[in-house]
Amino acid sequence: MGAELIDGRAFAARLRASVRDRVAEAAPRAGQAPGLAVVLVGHDPASEVYVRSKGKQALEAGMKSFEYRLPETTRAAELLDLIARLNDDAQVHGILVQLPLPAHLDPRAVINAIAPHKDVDGFHISNVGMVGTGQEAIVPCTPLGCMMMLRERHSDLRGRTALVIGHSNVVGKPMARLLLNADCTVMIAHKSSTNIPELARLADILVVAAGVPGLVRADWIKPGATVIDVGINRIPAPERGEGRTRLVGDVDFDAVREVAGAITPVPGGVGPMTIACLLANTLSAYCHQHGLDCAPLDLDEQDPA
Ligand code: NAD
Repeated sequence: MGAELIDGRAFAARLRASVRDRVAEAAPRAGQAPGLAVVLVGHDPASEVYVRSKGKQALEAGMKSFEYRLPETTRAAELLDLIARLNDDAQVHGILVQLPLPAHLDPRAVINAIAPHKDVDGFHISNVGMVGTGQEAIVPCTPLGCMMMLRERHSDLRGRTALVIGHSNVVGKPMARLLLNADCTVMIAHKSSTNIPELARLADILVVAAGVPGLVRADWIKPGATVIDVGINRIPAPERGEGRTRLVGDVDFDAVREVAGAITPVPGGVGPMTIACLLANTLSAYCHQHGLDCAPLDLDEQDPA
């Protein structure tokens, strides 16, 4: 029997629909719709795609979308000036600076210039610190999406053993902190770890965010474990024709599926949840800024789109 497939596309559609309903309810009370500002510096092709998609999905959720496209040569002072204006702009409830930034700009200084209550990516040091100390804060979108999928499968995460592979500030570290906040027993592995297969075999929950295709093999998996594959890797796919590629995760999906209890596919797993969680974070920031009771997102009441 293969593992249950955790369908991120359907989950994200339910989350987006729930956000849209909450926006429709809250906007008349607040006298304005939530506003999301996305700042892109330069012309990184992947970033262009993400920014377009974020703007489109914000509009579909009934939000206002403000896009700022700045040239590659933008000076730090100009970018910080824009962020200061967005911090003061009452129409803007969430601010996101698309990473990576061109090499001459320091991402930490830029992210930490965003007002923490508008930092819908959850990367500001204040939000990072609050999550790290178990306080309510804006949580980074990808780990938030992973937690939502885990909570749907496990009504109680307490006491479960979890391994996070990858310790980046964007995925691995916040993921591990959230699992710890949920009272899991948490291990973190990275590229200098020497015993990852042994650690993985102990894990009831395995979250993989390394960016290494096929890293996690079937003999690493504890039977019945839940496997969340965050990796997005483009690899050659000659079977589809010359020069063609396809997306895969960090997990040897077909083999791991035979051992795991549940698994996210790539594509169609964690990926779609990330932008849906950005919308959820923008809604929460907006409700907070307007002093509105932000009703919890009820994902059971929606039909998957
Ligand atoms: P990163 O490059 O910043 O970090 C990679 C992490 O993996 C590091 O901690 C590194 O030590 C570890 N690592 C690398 N090789 C390893 C190995 N052989 N064994 C164990 N650990 C190893 O990357 P990131 O930004 O954290 O992203 C990780 C992956 O997740 C990438 O494939 C990225 O595209 C993907 N990603 C997906 C989403 C999504 O929405 N689904 C969002 C963010 C990142």
